[in-house]
Amino acid sequence: MIIPGPKGPGDAIDVYLQPLIEELQELWEVGVETFDSSVHQNFKMYAALLWTINDFLAYGNLSGWSTKGKLACPCCNKDVFSMRLNNSIKQCFMHHRCYLPINHKWQIDKKSFDGTTEYGLPPKHLTSQDILDQVKDHEGVILSKDASKKTKVSHDNRRDNWNKKSIFFRLPYWSSLLLRHNLDVMHIEKNICDNVLGTIMNIKGKTKDTVKSRLDLEVMNIRLELHPIQKGDKFVLPAATYTLTHEEKHTFCMFLKQLKVPDGFSSNISHYVSIKEHKISGLKSHDCHVLLQHLLPLTLRGLLPKLVCEPLFELSLFFKILGAKTLRVEELEQIESQIAITLCKLEMNFPPSFFDVMVHLPIHLALEAKIAEPVQYRWMYPIERELYELKQLIRNLSCPEGSIAEGYIAKECMTLCSRYFTNIETKFNRLNRNHDVGSQEHKSDLLIFSQLGRALGSGMTWDLHMDEWEQAHLFVLKNCDAVQPF
Ligand SMILES: [Zn+2]
Repeated sequence: MIIPGPKGPGDAIDVYLQPLIEELQELWEVGVETFDSSVHQNFKMYAALLWTINDFLAYGNLSGWSTKGKLACPCCNKDVFSMRLNNSIKQCFMHHRCYLPINHKWQIDKKSFDGTTEYGLPPKHLTSQDILDQVKDHEGVILSKDASKKTKVSHDNRRDNWNKKSIFFRLPYWSSLLLRHNLDVMHIEKNICDNVLGTIMNIKGKTKDTVKSRLDLEVMNIRLELHPIQKGDKFVLPAATYTLTHEEKHTFCMFLKQLKVPDGFSSNISHYVSIKEHKISGLKSHDCHVLLQHLLPLTLRGLLPKLVCEPLFELSLFFKILGAKTLRVEELEQIESQIAITLCKLEMNFPPSFFDVMVHLPIHLALEAKIAEPVQYRWMYPIERELYELKQLIRNLSCPEGSIAEGYIAKECMTLCSRYFTNIETKFNRLNRNHDVGSQEHKSDLLIFSQLGRALGSGMTWDLHMDEWEQAHLFVLKNCDAVQPF
């Protein structure tokens, strides 16, 4: 078990992956005798690794393409366009105009964008042969962590971001996969939501609209109306269209504070809202997911000008369609061309420092979904939840790994034992948490959301007509005690 952090192995993770790769090679080439209990027979099982699911930092460690610096986007590879903001001291990823259809009117519009015209083509999609050609010189090279300065120089010399040839290339089929590593939609949603909320609410430390970013606008000679005005040794920032006024912030916070959602829909978002300070803090990934996909379009309508709202709503719709349980190719193609326009609209409104690499990544998500299907099987939620469970097992902070390993074994033993106990409460016979409606703890939970029943035999599905569906819906509600007061 390897815990990431300053002492984590970083790119040297390949050393630890060796046993896994050996087993995967065996599973592909030799196969493993496995018992099939349904037919009481042994069969030869073969297996292949489809792809890895990782956050953006681990993407760099696993793929070998560093996800830092000016070539941070692994999909755009060498062709990514990024720009150094000298005042904000960071890279920004704009230039989404290259994804627009040729001769689009925005391509010559210097003033609304970053002061330049854009005639370039979008980065080309790399084939597996392209990748193999690029990494061929890196065979067997693993850089130690303190070599980071040297890496930067070699990146600059080679004009790429490769740190190593990933150990996964030892798998015979790896180079022919269409998608090797997933961009994690969970973290992308979280980062974008944080950027948007921080900026429109002007939350100190979170907003991308600072004196430094306004000075960047001055250097780029765009958006004259937003340039900082020097008064003595201080700067005054003219109000921007993308920030909420004091009253608007109050309306926004009040909406979230009073919001009621169905059980299991989201955590209690009102806990994170401070009416007094007009601040939202401590949002978890899933809260950001709900906010971005469902709540922002509801709350911001009428608060921000249409020009600012529109791209935000489009972004919300993009993630909604992308995150759906059923994907349709034509819908994905539609959002793929639409997201370029949405990002361009954002570029016209928000400051350049808003566009970190996370805001750029949605441009690649529709294509990944076309290759690898629904996002819910390829994002970090299940993994993060498992990690959360594992972290709960830590009793001795000085040895977290050992503590987790021991706790995990104990839990397995307890689970096995509890299958044989009948006269005490175990996790197998415990009632659903929604069962006890009267209890103080879950006062807001309703019986209709609990699942006390259980299927009899195999199921059968058919589609209800809209009026049948409404009748059934109404019947349940009319016969449910908890709904009677309403
Ligand atoms: Zn990219």
